[in-house]
Parts: sequence; C-alpha cells; structure tokens
Amino acid sequence: MSQKKIFEASPESKAKAKQLRLFAILSWLIAMAGQVFAILKLIHDETLVWLIVAIVVILALAITGSLLWKKANKLDPASEQQKVKFFIQNQLGAIMGVLAFLPLVIFIFMNKDASKKTKGVAGSIAVVALLVAGIVGIEFDPASIEKYTEQINQQTDLVEQLNNGNNHVYWTPSGNKLHLYDDCHTIKNSNVSDGTVKQAWEARGIDNNEVCQFCMNRSAKEKELNLDEILNNVSSDIIEE
Ligand SMILES: [Zn+2]
Repeated sequence: MSQKKIFEASPESKAKAKQLRLFAILSWLIAMAGQVFAILKLIHDETLVWLIVAIVVILALAITGSLLWKKANKLDPASEQQKVKFFIQNQLGAIMGVLAFLPLVIFIFMNKDASKKTKGVAGSIAVVALLVAGIVGIEFDPASIEKYTEQINQQTDLVEQLNNGNNHVYWTPSGNKLHLYDDCHTIKNSNVSDGTVKQAWEARGIDNNEVCQFCMNRSAKEKELNLDEILNNVSSDIIEE
C-alpha cells in the first residue's frame, strides 16, 4: 500500500460542523430553560395539560439538538485516541436528552401539590420522553478520524488498482458514490466534482462513501481485471495492518 493518508476535515466542513454544534447547544439550552419553567410553574393539577405540552416541546428541542449534533460529528469526527473526549463528543446527545428530563421527573414525583393522578399521568409521560430523548441521542456507530482514514486508504488502494495507478474519482453533491468515470450513467446531468479519494471524503463530510459498483464493473471489464480478487486483496491489506 502507498503511504498512509490521514483524514482531516476540510475548513468548510469544520465551519459547518461548528455552526451545527452551536444550533444544537442552543436547542438544548432552550430545552433546559423549558424544563426549569415546567418545574417551577407547571407541576399542579390545574396545569396538567400545559405540563404535557411543555414535555412535548422539550422533547422536540432535545431531539433537534441531538440530530444536529450527530450531523456535526459526521462532518468533523473526533479521534478514537482521546477516549474520554471521543465518548463525550459522540454521546452528548444522549446525555443531554436524559438531563432535559431527569430533574423534571424527580420534581414531578416529589411534588406535594399535585394529586396522585397528575403525578401518574405527567410522571409517566416525562419518563417516556426521557427514554426517547436518551435513545435518540445515543450514537450507535460513531464516526472517527481513524475510521475515515481506514476507509480512505482502502478505497484509494481499490481505485488505484482499477484505474492504472491513478488516484482520481468523481462525485456529486447528493450521492455517496465515488466514480471512476465522469460519464457513469448514475451521475449524468449532475454537478460533478473530481479529485483524489481523500479529497472526496474531506469535501463531502459524510461517512458512507463507497466506490460505485457500476464503475468498478466497467473498469474491471475494460482492463480485464478480476474484480473479486482485487476486492479480496484490498480488504486483506487492511486486516494485515
Ligand atoms: Zn459510477
């Protein structure tokens, strides 16, 4: 394998990630403010409906924050080497989702002014909201610099073998495929960019880039290469490292 290429988010991706994180934090702050308001003003029998409305609004804000946060982490992933930072950065959505409801749940069940019925209804809705916000916030498959780097090197190797040693691919803003041919039928009439595999990853900021199957088949056929053998070699190269 040629020298190792290490992923680094482009300045555009970093700027976009920063903006998304700012909006995520803003959503969480408003959710927290909503929670404080609900705790102070809404835990009474007469305000049960408003308490439920508040829980729904807080849940929407917590989920919005998590989704923005996850998107930012795809654009500008953390490194697995810093274990604590990696965990917190990827699971912050889940942490904030739980924090957006846990104090409220405790205050609902501890409240002396509310009836048992109010506590039962509001309490169970708040617990469900806590679970939903927590689970939606969990990142089950976190992106990382190391994962992106491994994919880039694997795909560069594959592209070079199929492309006479040239590390050159084409991509479109919307698809997740890296193409070997700019006239591939799947990118007809699209706005096509080109560059190295690493440039494609850094420009796109998504974690599921793949080499186009149509282009691989076409190249293997034109150059009389055994595609299965190449794919096998590329994946075993990675395992050997
Ligand atoms: Zn293609």
